[in-house]
Amino acid sequence: MAAAFEQTAFTNSYEFTQGAGYALPEYPFVVPAELRSGEVSHHPIVIAGGGLAGLTLACSLARYGVAAVLLDEDNTVGVKGASSRGICYTQKSLEIFHRLGIYERIAAKGVQWSVGRTFAGADEVYSFDLRQQSAYNLSSQPPFINIQQFYVEAYLVQRIRELGHVDLRWCNRVSAFEQNDEGATLTVTTPAGEYRIRADYVIDATGSHSPFRAWTGASFTARKGDDRWCIADVRFRTQQPHATERHTWVQAPFNENRAVWQHPMGDQVWRIDYQMEPDADPQYVSREDVVRERLARHFGEGCEVEMVWIGPYAYRSECIDHMRHGRVFFMGDAAKVVSPFGARGGNTGIADADNLAWKLAAVLKGRAAAALLDTYHEERHEAACQNVLVTNRTTRFLRPAQGAETLFRQAALGLARQYVFARQLVNTGRMAIANPYTRSSACDGTGGLPVQNVSFEWPDGSAGCVNELLQWADGRLLLLRFGALGRGALERLRALVQAAPVRCVQVVGVGDIVAAVEHVRDVDGHLKGACHVFGHSWALVRPDSYVAACGDDIDAALVRAIAQSMGAAELDRDCA
Ligand SMILES: Cc1cc2nc3c(=O)[nH]c(=O)nc-3n(C[C@H](O)[C@H](O)[C@H](O)COP(=O)(O)OP(=O)(O)OC[C@H]3O[C@@H](n4cnc5c(N)ncnc54)[C@H](O)[C@@H]3O)c2cc1C
Repeated sequence: MAAAFEQTAFTNSYEFTQGAGYALPEYPFVVPAELRSGEVSHHPIVIAGGGLAGLTLACSLARYGVAAVLLDEDNTVGVKGASSRGICYTQKSLEIFHRLGIYERIAAKGVQWSVGRTFAGADEVYSFDLRQQSAYNLSSQPPFINIQQFYVEAYLVQRIRELGHVDLRWCNRVSAFEQNDEGATLTVTTPAGEYRIRADYVIDATGSHSPFRAWTGASFTARKGDDRWCIADVRFRTQQPHATERHTWVQAPFNENRAVWQHPMGDQVWRIDYQMEPDADPQYVSREDVVRERLARHFGEGCEVEMVWIGPYAYRSECIDHMRHGRVFFMGDAAKVVSPFGARGGNTGIADADNLAWKLAAVLKGRAAAALLDTYHEERHEAACQNVLVTNRTTRFLRPAQGAETLFRQAALGLARQYVFARQLVNTGRMAIANPYTRSSACDGTGGLPVQNVSFEWPDGSAGCVNELLQWADGRLLLLRFGALGRGALERLRALVQAAPVRCVQVVGVGDIVAAVEHVRDVDGHLKGACHVFGHSWALVRPDSYVAACGDDIDAALVRAIAQSMGAAELDRDCA
């Protein structure tokens, strides 16, 4: 007998939430065609889960014009009853959202920031300004924007609807799964009954409670500590804290010397996140009167706030051992779970989606070999492991074990109060970055690095940016040829563009002669710098804005690099 559909849990893991929260959008359940026809339909791609990762993937596929079905068990975005989980979105995610066409909406609603300060008591022991760092300072997007996660998800839903191609199915819960050589079959439970759907590729984006791990027998490594936190999302009626900086305390005198986070986000809401005693009772610490008392100690007795949401939480760290199991690709929290420090959870889920989307599109359009899909694991598992490692270090600094770890933290804080060199040891979270790929079979030794969305000049003198070039390349590789271009090289490039899924642009610096119709000007050398081109004359940029390879001449090495980045060992040798 078909299983009855149960509404999703009200609060997920936030059992003791309080406050008015937000009114989330509701998306209607539409009876799927399979239930009306009784037939099992077949689709190239089915995405399970419409959170940050699943929706980014769906939106990205839609932009490439690739059809997919997205199944989500809920009828809304975010977590019902909760305010927001994620709040900080890094430059790489913002660049991806720019490509997808939702960056402007995010920038209008969110709060930009680049300066972070960390205190121990009254002393500042660490600070950074990401705008001063080369990894952030060239892009058209800011280092970070803070915005409630459900807004980002809702903008993605809007955009998917604008673009078409993706069938969004709400209140559709995947309740069983099997796969074999012919395909994958998913059983889907809905309020109107149960149906089955078949797919060539399935993406598990169902989050940290993924049922696909058990269904596929996926193994993973997990670690859970006893650290406890309690969020208070508030709107100040009296004076607000410093509006554009992220402040953290490793030891806050107003929180019994435990850590505190203070972040602005959209709608003039502030996230104040307090570290609790390890054995704290979540129900007690999230009681409104107890939270108000905590806020009064922090901001002074006269401080008046509107309580938007209160939510106690604990975290764990998990990483799946393989991100592909047959036809299933794991992404976002389904693949790895990290503590929130450094904003690496959602941001890496977005990067997972961006990585897989162009590969699926290239394979389904016949431009790349199916082997390209295996590089998803190579690249994103390396990123996942790195993110787990970095966040685990932070959690050990914030909740050190007795003995050496506690001693190290005391020494680091003591030294950081006096000496600049020791400030690097203070670790309240290393902010999310675009992870490099050092082990990918789709990149050679010169590639694997992200390209920032830098600006340049179009031939008519107007400003352009890397994302516009990628848009023009439309899912193909983008070959940037820097500097002069002789007749022979031009001929070979013409042949290459005919034979391979690549689009080519000459990048003209100061004093270079224009040889190609398709050229842009890079007067400041920003584009060259962003492509990590040092002494090379070309860079092969992938649709996810990563360099696949750099090189010197238009020769066989370039042909090999194109083939390699498309998952193929060989390509038409005539174009070499
Ligand atoms: C307190 C806190 C603060 C955080 N701060 C940040 C931050 O600042 N920046 C950041 O980047 N990250 C942050 N994170 C992490 C971030 O929220 C998660 O990493 C992110 O939500 C993961 O996205 P996801 O799409 O993988 O999973 P989810 O967002 O959990 O989405 C999973 C989706 O799958 C659906 N689903 C589940 N099971 C099924 C099923 N069987 N069938 C169909 N659908 C199903 C669910 O309805 C849901 O829509 C924070 C997390 C917490 C808890």
